[in-house]
Amino acid sequence: MFEIYNTNQHFIDFHNSNKKSIGFVPTMGNLHQGHISLLEKSLQENEVSILSIYVNPTQFAKNEDLSSYPRTLEEDLDKIKKMQERFPNKNVIVFIPENETTIYPLGFNDFVTIPELNQVSEGEIRPTHFDGVATVVKRLFAITKPNKAYFGKKDYQQLVIIKKLVEKENLNVEIIGMPIIREPSGLAMSSRNNYLSLIEKEEATILSKTLNTIAAELQNNSFESAIDLINTNLKNKKFNYLEIRNSESFELAKAYDSNFVLLGNYQIQQTRLLDNIEVNK
Ligand code: AMP
Repeated sequence: MFEIYNTNQHFIDFHNSNKKSIGFVPTMGNLHQGHISLLEKSLQENEVSILSIYVNPTQFAKNEDLSSYPRTLEEDLDKIKKMQERFPNKNVIVFIPENETTIYPLGFNDFVTIPELNQVSEGEIRPTHFDGVATVVKRLFAITKPNKAYFGKKDYQQLVIIKKLVEKENLNVEIIGMPIIREPSGLAMSSRNNYLSLIEKEEATILSKTLNTIAAELQNNSFESAIDLINTNLKNKKFNYLEIRNSESFELAKAYDSNFVLLGNYQIQQTRLLDNIEVNK
């Protein structure tokens, strides 16, 4: 079964009768294989899967791409239906809030902040972004009441922040981190890749290639030689940052750590591309 809900009342009615397990996949739409892989996992693990499509204004700063963010609802619904058809006895609900007050009702003031993680790495360049993400995710959890929620490791810092949100607010939902889906070129799939020309997409592969080279250095040589390689690459000013963090605490990594995540951000014109790779020693 495939349904579209636009209002909170739809969910109140649904929860009043529902006894089934619920998986939740929050998205901003313009769906690609990365998003669909999260939906597939949710369909495998739950009886009902809810996928939301909502371009959340509170996670965009004033100078960012809120108004131009790609919106492709018809194509998105086709992709969701195709995946649902592979699971004929599972239900999919697509949540498309009918207006801003569905998510942020008049008088809404439950703004969440995760100060220990929101100003580093991506947060250094986008200081209000992660509080907007945490705020909307908490609100979406309250509406959809999932047992499990699925997030891509593509946005690694976001995943760590959502886990922190759940711990801090004592939310009753299991957070599942899912692998990064890539183009054959290695470029991590992203809705913002739509802003790139073919030549720029080719250029963008430098990000995953560089992260792979640094990961190999860290894996096969030393932490110090990986840092040297980072410093050499940072001479290319199109890298906004390249860093090695502890993949669990998200603190800057120390040589004696054993679980690492290498994170990078590469800029092409106005588009900031994100990627990362985990290394376990
Ligand atoms: P977005 O629509 O960009 O907010 O992304 C919605 C969800 O899809 C987030 O949990 C993202 O991390 C995840 N996602 C986006 N791109 C990818 C990808 N290439 N591989 C896996 N998950 C992804």
